Amino acid sequence: MAPMTLHPDSLAVHAGRDDLASLGVHALPLDLSSTNPLPGIDVGGMSYEVLASGGHPFDGGSHVYARLWNPTVARFEEALARLEHGEEGVAFSSGMAAMTAVLLAVAHESGKHHVVAVRPLYGGTDHLLASGLLGIETTYCAADAVADAIRDDTALVILESPANPTLELVDIRAIVAVAAGVPVLVDNTFATPVLQHPLDLGAAMSLHSATKYLGGHGDVVGGVVACDARTAAALRRTRAITGAVLHPLAAYLLHRGLSTLPVRVRAQQESARVVAQWLRTRPEVTRVHYPGFAECDPLGLVGTQQAGPGAMIAIELGGGFEAASSMTAAVQLFTHAVSLGSVDSLIQHPAALTHRPVQSEARPTDALVRLSVGLEDPADLVADLTHALTSIDADSRVRVAATAN
Ligand SMILES: *Cc1c(COP(=O)(O)O)cnc(C)c1O
Repeated sequence: MAPMTLHPDSLAVHAGRDDLASLGVHALPLDLSSTNPLPGIDVGGMSYEVLASGGHPFDGGSHVYARLWNPTVARFEEALARLEHGEEGVAFSSGMAAMTAVLLAVAHESGKHHVVAVRPLYGGTDHLLASGLLGIETTYCAADAVADAIRDDTALVILESPANPTLELVDIRAIVAVAAGVPVLVDNTFATPVLQHPLDLGAAMSLHSATKYLGGHGDVVGGVVACDARTAAALRRTRAITGAVLHPLAAYLLHRGLSTLPVRVRAQQESARVVAQWLRTRPEVTRVHYPGFAECDPLGLVGTQQAGPGAMIAIELGGGFEAASSMTAAVQLFTHAVSLGSVDSLIQHPAALTHRPVQSEARPTDALVRLSVGLEDPADLVADLTHALTSIDADSRVRVAATAN
């Protein structure tokens, strides 16, 4: 087979499976060994040395210990790297573990301890940077202020596009240009490699909370970074030292989930289009944040940078926090829960939940509700949201009546 010629949908099904036929199996093997037999002290020691410093296993060597190497995890990493157009992938126990390893590795490799972060960002990422826990100083800025924020000691620029939770789009190529050689990390969790390839646009790293679309079934927590081979070695070394490895069962589920990623993302995207257009007609909704609407994409990035608008929507409710509270309590088909990208639809209030740790000046408005559209029939989703939005009116009528008394 000539794997480089495969189209993305075929890659999603076949990537990272090159060794299966030689193993005599068809489905992905799940290797749960925490430790591995050593061929001898010398070769074992050499294997340890190579793997702990971020290298690959060599012929006749051992995988030594599961914190250093696991074949099930490595197959998932290979598949994800192919889908992201990266040389290699490095997987972690969560998206935040991946982000932490990136920050530690980049600061260590460059000797620089300053990061520029384009807001908005996922609340956990914003919090990690603001916490100072890693000894890294952060300058937050808007996309058009990155050039001014970069300093001599800047090790990394971090951005999300579409950004969590308001789905703002950032021109990745433009940020790479003004970063002038400082590596740019794009959190590609919302777009997925089905819609966007940050590495092709000049980003040094494409990071995922694999917990979301890559897993896609709400039953795995994981993170992964696609990048060049040199960066991957630094990340594997950091992972070996700090220990935030992905469990092989999680890697198995993530790799299995990749097969259907393109189909899921396209189907969810089509439903989200229907739901977003319908939301725009509702009197309770004062604003719909959805990259498929021209007013949300002033730079025209959907169709160029990003193949489609994706399946995430955020809305602002005229009734503010109380309306959000009524709506999230009233849904029956959507689940009121954090996270996103699953086959089932989720709804949550970013200011109270996912973005709670964000400093107040950057926290999303209390009127904002975020929706992750799943694989249900969009007519059922619209019916559920109709019921939920109607309950806002009912709740506020009850309140008005109570006040009048
Ligand atoms: C959820 C999320 C993360 C964090 O990932 P975890 O797997 O929850 O640690 C990072 N970035 C984005 C955009 C997310 O939505």
